[in-house]
Amino acid sequence: MSETVTAFSEPEERIALREAVAKLASKYGHEYVAKQAREGGKMTDMWLEMGRNGFLGVNLAEEYGGGGGGMADLAAVLEECAAAGAPLLMMVVSPAICGSIIARCGTDEQRKQWLPGIADGTHLMAFGITEADAGSNSHQITTTATRDGDGWVLKGQKTFISGVDEAQSVLVVARTADERTGKLKPALFVMPTDAEGFSRQPIPMSWQAPEKQFTLFFDDVRLPDEALVGGADNPDAGLWQLFAGLNPERIMGGAFSCGMARYALDKAVAYAGERAVWRDQPIGAHQGIAHPLAKVKIELEQARLLWQKAAALYDAGDDMAAGEYANMAKYAGGEVACNATDVAVHTHGGNGLTEEYGLGNMLVAARLGRIAPVSREMILNFVAMHSLGLPKSY
Ligand SMILES: Cc1cc2nc3c(=O)[nH]c(=O)nc-3n(C[C@H](O)[C@H](O)[C@H](O)COP(=O)(O)OP(=O)(O)OC[C@H]3O[C@@H](n4cnc5c(N)ncnc54)[C@H](O)[C@@H]3O)c2cc1C
Repeated sequence: MSETVTAFSEPEERIALREAVAKLASKYGHEYVAKQAREGGKMTDMWLEMGRNGFLGVNLAEEYGGGGGGMADLAAVLEECAAAGAPLLMMVVSPAICGSIIARCGTDEQRKQWLPGIADGTHLMAFGITEADAGSNSHQITTTATRDGDGWVLKGQKTFISGVDEAQSVLVVARTADERTGKLKPALFVMPTDAEGFSRQPIPMSWQAPEKQFTLFFDDVRLPDEALVGGADNPDAGLWQLFAGLNPERIMGGAFSCGMARYALDKAVAYAGERAVWRDQPIGAHQGIAHPLAKVKIELEQARLLWQKAAALYDAGDDMAAGEYANMAKYAGGEVACNATDVAVHTHGGNGLTEEYGLGNMLVAARLGRIAPVSREMILNFVAMHSLGLPKSY
């Protein structure tokens, strides 16, 4: 509709970035993703082309091969990919979570070693925090890292870790014993996926996607000192490092879901405008079809404003305020993706559940936005406690 520039408009460079990404992503589109998922293929061609064009590392510093932009740029890139039907799940993980943590908390050597590959897509870094027995309560993780000479030995398990079969390394959240107090505290390690003692087992999932989830086993995996993010001189930094990944993870989760909702809504609107089964009118002329679509459009614009605000706060350096909005953005994105895919399937009638129209699988994919990387309920817990000042409930 209106193109008037206001405080709510994105800068010209980001609009141009969106256009360039949309063009590249639509070359691949839903057909490509569905084919890769069906045949056990990967998104590698698109991923590397995105990397060559500078889109994957747009948030990372130029001196490390990035674009020198911010999280708002990276989230816009992901939203455009998803809106074109070709979401790149691993963007949430490699450049956003891992890239941000290493950029903010890594040593100079670690930045030089990892960021250029993350930026151009040639080094894919997975992220592993979730454990079967800890679930949403990550204080309960039991993967331990023990000092051994001038290195570390890691022992434990992780579950639901995405993209490990494609990744060269995993940023693993473990715990070490504090030498003074003996208490366990978080510590993050970059673990190569070909390390001795590292093994993985695929988890059969109900959604069809090129990106797979794995249970990981660390059977006394030995890592050098340089694998500890921030280095041994900074032994208490683990918690702060984890926090450095949370806002990017949630902003990207919100943008991912918004892109998926845009894709579903566009398909539904097109179908509602063409399909005619009563007289000459398309089904979109009926309010029973039009109103749910209009409602999704409103929810979508709300969710997009939330992630854009969260990203703007994050890029301005206000981590606290960004945290509140990143959580809300992730929640709103997850909800609208679920609502949009549900309405899109319904608008298509029987076609909504055919493989040809490709929407049925999206019902499951969209639900991911309600569960991961943090569940809807944990966000409500956060908002109740931090935004509303209510007592901690868990
Ligand atoms: C497709 C997919 C990809 C993933 N990729 C990764 C990855 O790359 N790396 C990684 O580390 N993890 C990954 N995860 C894991 C994901 O982050 C977790 O599934 C998520 O954090 C929820 O943990 P859980 O599954 O153990 O659920 P649980 O913690 O067992 O929760 C189950 C249910 O209980 C609710 N619940 C739990 N505690 C509370 C409470 N206090 N109050 C109210 N409700 C509560 C939850 O909201 C949820 O609905 C992925 C998961 C999926 C499905």
